[in-house]
Amino acid sequence: MTRRSGDDLWRDFPKTATEFEARFATEEDCRAYWIKARWGGTPSCARCESERVWTIRAGTTFECADCGHQTSLTSGTPLEKTRKPLKMWFRVVFEISTRRTGISAKDLQRIMGFGSYKTAWSWLHKLRAAMVRSDASEPLGPFVQVDEALIGGKGGPNKELVLVAAETSGRVRLAHAENNDAATLKRFADAQIAPDARVVTDGHAGYGGKSLGKRSHEAKVQTKAERRESDAIQSCHWTISLLKRWLLGTHAGAVHPKHLQSYLDEYAFRHNRRKTNGVGRIAARVIEQLVARQPLTMRSLIDDTRRCRWFPQPELTA
Ligand SMILES: [Zn+2]
Repeated sequence: MTRRSGDDLWRDFPKTATEFEARFATEEDCRAYWIKARWGGTPSCARCESERVWTIRAGTTFECADCGHQTSLTSGTPLEKTRKPLKMWFRVVFEISTRRTGISAKDLQRIMGFGSYKTAWSWLHKLRAAMVRSDASEPLGPFVQVDEALIGGKGGPNKELVLVAAETSGRVRLAHAENNDAATLKRFADAQIAPDARVVTDGHAGYGGKSLGKRSHEAKVQTKAERRESDAIQSCHWTISLLKRWLLGTHAGAVHPKHLQSYLDEYAFRHNRRKTNGVGRIAARVIEQLVARQPLTMRSLIDDTRRCRWFPQPELTA
């Protein structure tokens, strides 16, 4: 399967609502873009990779001239078996990309006129799954702060541990973790922090050679007053407070621990692109990653715990 690089595609993506309406006015417009993103413009058979295909079922499916196999435009992606037109999916991608803080399932249901909350909820989760990948490509550096936060109901039993790594005024990485022992912190650091980065943490005993390896490390124990003066891990503290506000504000705190990592991924995706000019680039990136993702069933979305991908994974429902 050949895919065109996202660089070409995002240049072509509309940046305003008016441009969007004009560019994706019809289902055919959206299909053409989808085919470009998924197959570089020339669709091929999912079974034999032949490019001798023609469209059937009103353009939603290709039939292979060589082996007769039928490939739906959306099969093998999170949009598999969708009964809604691509145009609607594009609209939602545009909505979530233009809003700096994203959108709740409730608001999406209202805006798109979906019959059920569950539909809106599952669409957002599918799109969240497309907001991951590229962040993991380049480890953080050269100055990285590491901290952790408890997220969840005030004083309730459902506080969840989130590990935070932040470049000074730069990118962030967030991981929902079961604990903050040295082994867990080591996985997080090895996946996310450059081997030559200089790391600053608070005095937590888990940070040391066992977790941070040979990285230069400064453990800053500060009093409240000192922190007010000059917080050594301010980027982490800002990230944590904005994250909490976002979960409470946009999502009304209604995030199940099972799904917390997906929200952390969305938060990091948005944060790390906050300086990107134009929503076109963000929306194009989401579609580019959507065509490359595995299908997600409703049952899997609801039942499975999506653990942070840097830690050992539990079995997911097929
Ligand atoms: Zn074929």
